[in-house]
Amino acid sequence: MSSAQAIGHATQGDATPAIPEPVRATWETQQQLPKVAYGQGCYVFDQDGKRYIDGSGGPAVFALGHSHPEVNAAIKDQLDRIAHGYRYTFSSDPLEELTAMIAESCGGGLKHMTFCSSGSEAIESCLKIALQYHAALGKPERCRFIARERSWHGNTLGALSISGFLDRRAAFEGALAPASLISPANVYRPPEGVFPEDVAAFCARELENEILRLGADKVAAFIFEPVVGAAGGCVPAPPGYAKRVREICDRHGVLLIADEVMCGAGRTGTWRALQHDGVEPDIMAVAKGLAGGYVPLSAAIYHERLRGPMYERFGGLLTGHTFSGHTLGCAAGVAVQKIVRRDNLLEKVRENGLLLKRMLSDALGDRPYVGDIRGRGYFLCVELVKDRATKEPYPRDRMLYQKVTRQTFENGLICYPVGGNVDGKRGDIVILSPPYIATQEELVEIVEKLAKSLGQVMASVG
Ligand code: PLP
Repeated sequence: MSSAQAIGHATQGDATPAIPEPVRATWETQQQLPKVAYGQGCYVFDQDGKRYIDGSGGPAVFALGHSHPEVNAAIKDQLDRIAHGYRYTFSSDPLEELTAMIAESCGGGLKHMTFCSSGSEAIESCLKIALQYHAALGKPERCRFIARERSWHGNTLGALSISGFLDRRAAFEGALAPASLISPANVYRPPEGVFPEDVAAFCARELENEILRLGADKVAAFIFEPVVGAAGGCVPAPPGYAKRVREICDRHGVLLIADEVMCGAGRTGTWRALQHDGVEPDIMAVAKGLAGGYVPLSAAIYHERLRGPMYERFGGLLTGHTFSGHTLGCAAGVAVQKIVRRDNLLEKVRENGLLLKRMLSDALGDRPYVGDIRGRGYFLCVELVKDRATKEPYPRDRMLYQKVTRQTFENGLICYPVGGNVDGKRGDIVILSPPYIATQEELVEIVEKLAKSLGQVMASVG
């Protein structure tokens, strides 16, 4: 029997959902935030002159750090020419150059794309491409999506409907579209009764069971994060999982969508995160690292195999926005991607990522409250637990991750603590996702500041 939950149906009664405590606490914290003044490489300075090392690139965004002179120059140069050539009026050099660069970086058949301005928009486009493709084949009833628990795909209603992040969904539950959420493939926290070594097979089987339960002819796509970001804490797919889900999708005519908004564009040491697993999706989203936070930019990329039917039946892609392919955004993307290539930053991320993981293990591995250190490249996570043997998390009302946020910030470290990774409510993780340009010395500083901050927080928590 599948353990998938069908979600998104209207809630009963008219009770307004309470604002989840972590959301309230986040708002309160935000009201006391310092004002940012400027950035330089891996450092950010506030208006009082306090210096912070950026150990998480914001939320895994700033691939080249801050105020990179070449990226700034490229953006200024583009701005002096024109900010944007609207997509129904013009193409542009940056748009065409970035399209070619992304297709080359993806390799294989992932050659076509549409640009947007956020991760959520890119996910919406991925979902719509899947639906349009099936409609083009005369199968509009293939409109159900299967996703996973402990996942995050974005804040727009479509993306939220397929996201397994309870607190972020709570206020909107009744308005969300129906979707299925199956188990996340996390070997540190396997589904109940499953051995870690069986997680890949079990979770893949769950996907097939859910497809069969819904009826394969009703399912548009399965979407997953190849390395889960904020909702799970840098959880890589166990070996063999991605290949199995690829085979299952192929067997049932279901499209495979990779959400690489956070883990893609080189963050894990390969341009596509799923490259590591030897799997090519049909559709994928990239965002954060694409233009490295200099200008909002994302892309929904799709396989050449999908293009023919959509263009023949509908004459083009039935999605897009006013700012799709924004010229300035694409110019920033080209500048960032050129530097990533020229400076061999993916190689650096692979090598230094191993070093960063080792440093984290050396500094924190023996601490009784550190349950797991995982991830790939410059996308690593420390999971905090109350009991290492049972993996029991701290109670939610301790708000541990919020305390870590405050203490690290106080100590001049920007990292990315998140709550709820265990069951949507409990669980505390700290994500490190530094800029790709971070040097070994900067990684040392990040680890030292994190180790000190965790020591302070845990001494106060007991
Ligand atoms: N998908 C993943 C994996 C993400 O991590 C995020 C944001 O954190 C999104 C989608 C949504 O991106 P955005 O916040 O840019 O809309």
